[in-house]
Amino acid sequence: MAVAGGAMTRGPRVLLRQIREAMADGGPAQGRLDVVVRTIAQSMVAEVCSIYLRRASGELELFATQGLNPEAVHATRLKPGEGLVGEVARLAQPISLSDAPSHPSFAYRPETGEDPYHAFLGAPLLRGGRAIGVLVVQNRAERRYDEDEVEDIQTIAMVLAETVASGELLAQEELRDVEVAPHRPERIKGQRFAEGLAYGHVVLHEAPLPPERLLAENQQVEEIRLREGLNTLKASIDALLDGGQGKLAGQSFEVLETYRMFADDRGWNRSLEEAVRGGLTAEAAVDRVRNEHRARFAQARDPYIKERLHDFEDLANRLLRVLGGETPGQRQLPDDAILVARNLGPADLLEYPRDCIRGLLMEEGSAASHAAIVARALQIPCVGRLQGVRDRLSEGDLVIVDGETGEAHLRPRPDMLESVRSRMAVRSQRQAEFAKLKDTPAVTVDGTRITLLTNAGLAVDLENLDATGAEGIGLFRTEFQFMVSEELPRLNTQTALYKLVLDAAGDRPVTFRTLDIGGDKVLPYMETTEREENPALGRRAIRLGLDRPSLLRLQLRALLAAGAGRELRVMFPMIATVDEFRAARELVDVECEWARRRGRPLPALLRVGAMIECPSLLWHLDALLPLTDFVSVGSNDLFQYMYAADRTNPLVSDRYDPLSPPALRALQSIQKACAETGTPVSVCGELAGRPLEAFALICLGFTRLSAPAGGVGPVKRMILSTDLTTARRGMDKLLGSSAGSVRNEIESLARKLNVGL
Ligand code: PEP
Ligand code: MG
Repeated sequence: MAVAGGAMTRGPRVLLRQIREAMADGGPAQGRLDVVVRTIAQSMVAEVCSIYLRRASGELELFATQGLNPEAVHATRLKPGEGLVGEVARLAQPISLSDAPSHPSFAYRPETGEDPYHAFLGAPLLRGGRAIGVLVVQNRAERRYDEDEVEDIQTIAMVLAETVASGELLAQEELRDVEVAPHRPERIKGQRFAEGLAYGHVVLHEAPLPPERLLAENQQVEEIRLREGLNTLKASIDALLDGGQGKLAGQSFEVLETYRMFADDRGWNRSLEEAVRGGLTAEAAVDRVRNEHRARFAQARDPYIKERLHDFEDLANRLLRVLGGETPGQRQLPDDAILVARNLGPADLLEYPRDCIRGLLMEEGSAASHAAIVARALQIPCVGRLQGVRDRLSEGDLVIVDGETGEAHLRPRPDMLESVRSRMAVRSQRQAEFAKLKDTPAVTVDGTRITLLTNAGLAVDLENLDATGAEGIGLFRTEFQFMVSEELPRLNTQTALYKLVLDAAGDRPVTFRTLDIGGDKVLPYMETTEREENPALGRRAIRLGLDRPSLLRLQLRALLAAGAGRELRVMFPMIATVDEFRAARELVDVECEWARRRGRPLPALLRVGAMIECPSLLWHLDALLPLTDFVSVGSNDLFQYMYAADRTNPLVSDRYDPLSPPALRALQSIQKACAETGTPVSVCGELAGRPLEAFALICLGFTRLSAPAGGVGPVKRMILSTDLTTARRGMDKLLGSSAGSVRNEIESLARKLNVGL
């Protein structure tokens, strides 16, 4: 110990510099690696030093060694979790043992000749919280490595991880199937959240540039920088707390207070200081401590612990920004930014300059998540559920967002980029064609007029009204305003938005849907009661509105005020029984009466409708329709409930085809019941925005469709090319089919009739 301790008093800085020099030396990669292990062994007074790297198969391969049998290099491969080396990688934590062979995880590999070595110290090479390799030193004598040595080997491992990943240490050919080889092109399959194509350079959300300099030139300077950085960080949170008391709702305030507490966390502060004392720059120290946190919490399932990890991540990011001299909110973005995030909060996307953001990639989330909704509204192509994407990209990497196939191409080859460019050109050509159609009425070849509306939810959507030529808003999702707010929007704020929408629409009709929150659409500022096991089947939408009438009444009050003197259309989501509709409609009456008594002007025409999204209503339309002024089919929910398949769960959401006899027959029965009673009916789910599906809908007799903005043009093109009388005859036959899906048949029918899909 005394000898090793003596060597380490020089700190790992000298050693790290030697490693850098060895790497800069040029020559074959293997030769450089050999020098690196030799240097480490010498410096740490170890008889053995080895580097293992993880191959794409998950096996850890011995890449270089000083002290073990050289024949074992590239021959010894350990399965995931095998031996002590595997254990270090699995735990993503260092392991120090004085007598390794007596440890239950020890796996003896005769080809390495490691039997005489007792003391073992292994540290993971971490990238994004995962081990991409393991650095090991071994000594013949039974000895215990002290804390400083454990600390030092981690620092060396960090530098190695960076240099391996950046391609400095190994040649490209050797990196090819090393698991984390960030220079390789890669394709990851995810889920389509917002359609469209884009390419550009990666901007990591909440993560500043990885430290450029890992090694401190002057340790004292780095200590001061770290201390000052921490002070600035704490002061900035204090300022938020002080200035925000009035603005921040109770819960947000508490969150910030907890956050402030973390900034003071002694363990965190101490780890940072120790890392700087070990020879790292302040930035590299923050990065290293963050990696350790990630690794430690990676396996945690407890949501509380996961949240805490998020807090530490966030703090680390803020600290890195402070160290980089950046002021929050003033981040410079390239003008072709592709934002990459694990997940985004309600307002995050809106905080970025819209002009710079070309696309969005997310590791988590769902198509129904806030960011996805906002991305669609802003027409930013977005792919989500991309496993590991955040760790496989570096700031500035070139990346393609394919919102058509639901894929991300990381560091694409030139030919891939070329093919995406040409697809984008075709797309914009088509878009130009759609734009030309915007003032053409949607009439089928044989003269049936279809009313084509659009769905909206944010003020930014209103631009789409004119741009697409939609004839009005068939579904205004009022909950978006609530979801992107920091606090419950007040009466005036709600009224102002509804007025803005009505003004923008002018003579065009707007159908406001009352709040569809609850279930998994939890508002951060609203007290939540118990967590629900099945949020989609839980107390969402009208159920919550009826349980908390003050919330719903406030919204109705705002709607009535905004609609004063003009036509106001209001509909209720998730109606499952006629009694719910009666109760909701009664609240409208109560609010009208309230306004009347105060002499407030009321809408000139008030129409109240129900969304048909719960299958139960299909067998009670005779009771419901006479109570409503109109209905709208929410096919997204209707089919999720009909098929018992959670629309936000990628494992099941695409399992059933809406172009199937049961789904089409359900739609047909709604259309027929409405026609018989003269009830206006529209379809406002995603179906209405896809040409083939919309073709099926008009064949079933629907003449009012409300589509997402991107679907209006393509659906209009379909309508203009459809001979409806002939198409309907073909469709009638398909409804009797015994097949699980009739998608192909409907497509053949449409193609035979030259329908523009
Ligand atoms: C639907 O369910 O089809 C619908 C239009 O409502 P949302 O997608 O907002 O649930
Ligand atoms: Mg719905």
